[in-house]
Amino acid sequence: MKIISINAGSSSLKFTLFEMDNEEVISSGVFERIGIEGSKYTIKYNGEKIEQEIELKDHTDAVKVLLEKLIDLNIIKSLDEIGGVGHRLVHGKDKYSKSVIITDEVIEDLENFRKFAPLHNPANVLGIKAFKEALGDVAMVGVFDTAFHQTMEKEAYLYPVPYKWYEEYGVRKYGFHGTSHRYIASSVKQILGREDFKLISCHIGNGGSICAIDNMKCVDTSMGFTPLAGIMMGTRSGDIDPSIIPYVMEKEGKNASEVVEDLNKVSGLLGLSEYSSDMRDILEKIDNQDEKALLAKKKYVRRVVDYIAQYYVLLGGVDVICFTAGVGENSVPVRKEICEALACLGVKIDLELNNKRGELVKLSTDDSKILVYVIPTDEELMIARDTMNLIQNR
Ligand code: AMP
Repeated sequence: MKIISINAGSSSLKFTLFEMDNEEVISSGVFERIGIEGSKYTIKYNGEKIEQEIELKDHTDAVKVLLEKLIDLNIIKSLDEIGGVGHRLVHGKDKYSKSVIITDEVIEDLENFRKFAPLHNPANVLGIKAFKEALGDVAMVGVFDTAFHQTMEKEAYLYPVPYKWYEEYGVRKYGFHGTSHRYIASSVKQILGREDFKLISCHIGNGGSICAIDNMKCVDTSMGFTPLAGIMMGTRSGDIDPSIIPYVMEKEGKNASEVVEDLNKVSGLLGLSEYSSDMRDILEKIDNQDEKALLAKKKYVRRVVDYIAQYYVLLGGVDVICFTAGVGENSVPVRKEICEALACLGVKIDLELNNKRGELVKLSTDDSKILVYVIPTDEELMIARDTMNLIQNR
């Protein structure tokens, strides 16, 4: 069966087409600048990459072009070959703890939850509607970023604020990157051949979150009410003292939304380094003795280590620590420094093996008290797997 995984953003649509018999990627690509001048698509298949500028008025246009191209390029012979479409959905609040077949109720909920993910939920709905229009009644599945974290207990997901804020306004920790953390947990299960392990999953990319997992269930995670919370990220601050917000509002004559925008867009690595949000640029600057870049990296490492230490205690010890996403999969010095800081927990890694990038590798030495792995994440595959399972078990 062939399944398409879709990640629809406000002006983009990413796709991956899988042959699920062997979980192989047949084709992947992205439609960019949808509804904006200069829109284009990139489609990869058979080791080739096609890029073309084309007018895309909306997501419906993008999906139409995508399906036409899949047939024109002989990637599929007819649309009937597509057995299902899986959509990455960002926010399912506390209603969705699992992936679901998309019904009108799901679409309505996504619209109702838009206040919780104003950029993502409306874009997700556009993606769903565009495929509905193009493929009629083909089965579609929604895979929520928040779902995996629904196993957190109240004392993990509640903030110590007036209870009314939770009851009446839905103020609580929701957590994000759930599909990635779940993929990491299922990969560790495959590696160890059991599921009764305690795992700290470190998804550290441009966005980043740490997740404490016990027996395949999320116990706690670093992102919160929004993806702004937790560790330091490319442009996001992560946790800060909230009193900073009114103070900076007054200093800079900004309103609360504008200061929060600064915390989202010009903080993190970019804010401290005053140079770049990209770890590669930061590392290059450090090679040139740049002090702010060095400080940014140190702070970044410290925030990750803080969360790992916190979750080590919460879980009552840890069997496995995993690194994933852009920085986790590729940044040799960042992994090295995080692991060095964890030496007091008995973490030891092989520095030679740590030089590998972008591949599954066991970093820990035989005498390390905790297994340490790099596992490249694959949210698209997880979405496709959920889609196939739900369709087959309907
Ligand atoms: P992601 O959001 O998962 O795509 O991660 C993007 C981030 O990964 C980039 O902003 C970089 O900071 C980081 N990254 C990717 N490749 C490397 C690399 N080779 N070395 C260091 N950092 C990298």
